[in-house]
Amino acid sequence: MASTFTARLQVELEEFKRTGVYKRLNFLDSPQSARVRMEGRGDVVILSSNNYLGLCDEPEVIAAGKAALDRYGAGTGSVRFICGTFTIHRELEAALAALVGTEASLSYVSCWNANEGLCPTILGERDAVISDQLNHASIIDSVRLARTIGKCQSLVYRHSDMADLREKLEAVKGARTRLVFTDGVFSMEGDVARLADIVELARRHGAIVAVDDSHGTGVMGATGRGTAERAGVMGDVDIVTSTLGKALGGAAGGFTASSAALCDYLTQRSRPQLFSNALPPTVAASALAAVRYVTAHPERVARLHDNARYFRGALEDSGFKPLAGETPIIPVILGETARAIRMSELLLEEGVFVTGFGYPVVPQGQARVRCQVSAAHTREHLDFAIEAFRKTGRKLGVI
Ligand SMILES: *Cc1c(COP(=O)(O)O)cnc(C)c1O
Repeated sequence: MASTFTARLQVELEEFKRTGVYKRLNFLDSPQSARVRMEGRGDVVILSSNNYLGLCDEPEVIAAGKAALDRYGAGTGSVRFICGTFTIHRELEAALAALVGTEASLSYVSCWNANEGLCPTILGERDAVISDQLNHASIIDSVRLARTIGKCQSLVYRHSDMADLREKLEAVKGARTRLVFTDGVFSMEGDVARLADIVELARRHGAIVAVDDSHGTGVMGATGRGTAERAGVMGDVDIVTSTLGKALGGAAGGFTASSAALCDYLTQRSRPQLFSNALPPTVAASALAAVRYVTAHPERVARLHDNARYFRGALEDSGFKPLAGETPIIPVILGETARAIRMSELLLEEGVFVTGFGYPVVPQGQARVRCQVSAAHTREHLDFAIEAFRKTGRKLGVI
């Protein structure tokens, strides 16, 4: 490669390091579970994984993947519409639709792709999308594509601000299709979209609603069917996008769940479907086993929330001030980026893996360590982590 180009990259990488955005990678040598083996560290309790239900290493989920590897081979070898659609995709998609309460669903290799395949495919010049300010990067990019390729209007409303959403809906009332797009659970804050209000507002304005429930599927609601279940609006959300890479086995994959017509339309038109391979059958089979597991074991969802309440309470009793909330995402705000990074380093020395997040991922001055509790944790794991938090919190003068 041209040396001037490489030199430029090196200068920029140095700048990342100086400003604290450079991310050091940790290498794991075991499945995701309550504890993981980290290269050079041994076993640590992990509070940074999206493995909310502990299904990454659930025997049924692993066995389903292995069986599919034998039955269908390593990969699809094609995109969906040529010869990449397998019977396991159809089974998975029916199960996902039943889980989130829609007529149909369509799988993608990631939720990133599901989102990217949505807005630019369904929105054109006469349409508008209205997006929450704190939406995930994949929604933001989907909107950007729809704006630049499809020339649709795009507006952003202040985070969970229903008055602002109403104003934005009124501002585009002449548009043909108005789509309100929100995260179900906001991953940096751990708060939940005001979905019942959003659905009601949208209905009143003749708009449709899309929810990216990546941190909600398998997590929110009494039986893990997502943010819509918790809000009492199952079946009223027009479009649900979500990931298979978090609670549902954690491998990879995503989906869009909606009417049969929309899923068919996306199958025909969305570019990640048309130009990128289908989800590997092994991954589809593991995800299907994960969906079946969630459906058969609501007590796993209950355990997740018991654990989250317990951990949140223990942090508060220890003098920390985690952000208020009811999700298993529990951020502890520490202020400056360097402080959050230092806290996560000290915690790792104590055998607890929690990632620190700073600017620009979160606003300046609101750097944090973000804890994610799992149903895989026992009380002993959580107590061990709390002890480490107390020790490091005292050392840094946080408590
Ligand atoms: C994690 C996440 C994604 C990306 O999911 P992948 O399947 O890993 O691409 C998309 N949206 C939200 C809200 C997420 O939290």
